[in-house]
Amino acid sequence: MTGAPSLSAPPDGRSGAWLEDPGFGIYVHIPFCLHRCHYCDFNTYEGANALHGPYVDALERDIWTNASGPPATSVFFGGGTPTLLAPRQLARLLAAIAGTVGLAPGAEITIEANPETVDAAAFEALLAAGFNRFSIGVQSLAPRVLRGLGRTHSASAALGAVGAARRAGATDINIDLIYGSPWERPEDWRATVEGTIAAEVGHVSAYALTVEEGTPLHVLVASGRVPDVDPDIQAERFDTASELFGAAGLDRYETSNWARRGRACRHNLLYWSAGEYLGFGAGAHGHVAGRRSWTLKLPRDYIAAVGRGEGTEAGCERLEVEARAGEAMMLGLRLASGVELGAFERRFGGAWLEGRSAVIDSLRASGLLDIAAGRLRIPASAAFVADEALCQLL
Ligand code: SF4
Repeated sequence: MTGAPSLSAPPDGRSGAWLEDPGFGIYVHIPFCLHRCHYCDFNTYEGANALHGPYVDALERDIWTNASGPPATSVFFGGGTPTLLAPRQLARLLAAIAGTVGLAPGAEITIEANPETVDAAAFEALLAAGFNRFSIGVQSLAPRVLRGLGRTHSASAALGAVGAARRAGATDINIDLIYGSPWERPEDWRATVEGTIAAEVGHVSAYALTVEEGTPLHVLVASGRVPDVDPDIQAERFDTASELFGAAGLDRYETSNWARRGRACRHNLLYWSAGEYLGFGAGAHGHVAGRRSWTLKLPRDYIAAVGRGEGTEAGCERLEVEARAGEAMMLGLRLASGVELGAFERRFGGAWLEGRSAVIDSLRASGLLDIAAGRLRIPASAAFVADEALCQLL
């Protein structure tokens, strides 16, 4: 997590297109939740309230000590449930970022929020602290699906959180959804999509549920008590989402993300454009100048390392240009607009593309890739099976 990133802020980072100049991002991980959802395998812990204060102290010190680089074009507080912390604690962390690398003009500053942990006063305090984008974990508006997923909020509480953010003055709101769970009927998903559209947010992330090993959901599926997810059903749900969101002015700009014009997520575009970022907190990843690193996973270990004045890095790897180019293409092809080939060559040279020209031709012939206006992309008709094209390409 050290080094001097060389990229500066692009003039427009939120159109949804691949960025030749992705800017510079900061990710902050908050590894605490009120309750563990049945499907979750993220680095997060419930019932660790005693660690909240020491963790914030450690994070703040880590940022002040180790943050370096150009002003951040985007900051993302993720988790876990960042809003489980008090707004004043989150404000201290954001102030540390502003006081070290600084914030580029117009920087997008996102925080993930779960409905049980926020109200209008919390949103007001977070806006006053400088957060300007809220990503709210709604997941579903169907009670049966929320129960199955192990979510502890109701559909009305989820929509209430969106309303509270708006009343507090937030203008940049994302709703997170999950589709294709074993409990979901077609009408549940349609009602969820329609309810999300009615909430009039600028951005929606909707991910197909995956059954991750080590989760309670995996145990239920493995023991036959709950049916496994069905890729064909998930493909149908994806089509429903694309159709309804598209008709409502939310364009799909990435495999699982829809946005109104100019509301694409700047921070995620940085990831999909293979940009550079620092990661702070337990288990956070960073990527600067071809060096990818990650920190100690357990909050206690992270707190202890900072307390001893030691580094928090748990590991790193260096990616050579070939590997960086391949990874950049894999990430960039998730974007509906694809990767601009001229810009890609300027960043990574021409060798990677030249070495794959036969595969690209073959994938174009089978409809899994196309080239339009100088951009290599996965056509919309193949978006849900994008992994097949990516595997062959890499
Ligand atoms: S709220 Fe999010 S991070 Fe926390 S347990 Fe549920 S899915 Fe995981």
